[in-house]
Amino acid sequence: MATKSIENFQSKTTATNACTHIWNGNVSRNGYGLYRDPVTGKTVYAHRFAYEMHNGPIPDTYEEKPSVIMHKCDNRLCVSRDCLLLANQALNMADKKAKKRCNPNRKFRGPNLTRRQLAVFHRLMDRGFSNYQICKMCGKSESHMHQIRKKYNQAKQHAIILEMIKWMLAIPTA
Ligand SMILES: [Zn+2]
Repeated sequence: MATKSIENFQSKTTATNACTHIWNGNVSRNGYGLYRDPVTGKTVYAHRFAYEMHNGPIPDTYEEKPSVIMHKCDNRLCVSRDCLLLANQALNMADKKAKKRCNPNRKFRGPNLTRRQLAVFHRLMDRGFSNYQICKMCGKSESHMHQIRKKYNQAKQHAIILEMIKWMLAIPTA
């Protein structure tokens, strides 16, 4: 890898709070950085170029499966040395799944909870059943039920506030 290629590459990155090098150049349709190497004239994925810059050529396989370069930080435009990891597609998918599962912002009406189930939970909550009691009936975890109740309460509060606003707007001003 030529020094000119590396210097040119580094001039196209900036640091953020989370990562030391974020790609500023062209971006592919799927959201990854694209780098045109002025020495070879070839366009390559920026994160792959960055990995090779620090670690040498990427092997074709990793643990006997086609290799991929994974982002620990989940930012496709990141080209930081510490964020790039050699893995394979299976590991990459497992990592994505695990992160999705652990994401507290994820909506709870996921594939494992139907609209109908959710409606049943809400009805039970309205009738005064505790999270513990509902969990006993359906086998869900209590923290999961806590999240469902929290969302439901927020939605109900929202509805009340909306009603109040409508009511206030309806009062004729003196
Ligand atoms: Zn990063």
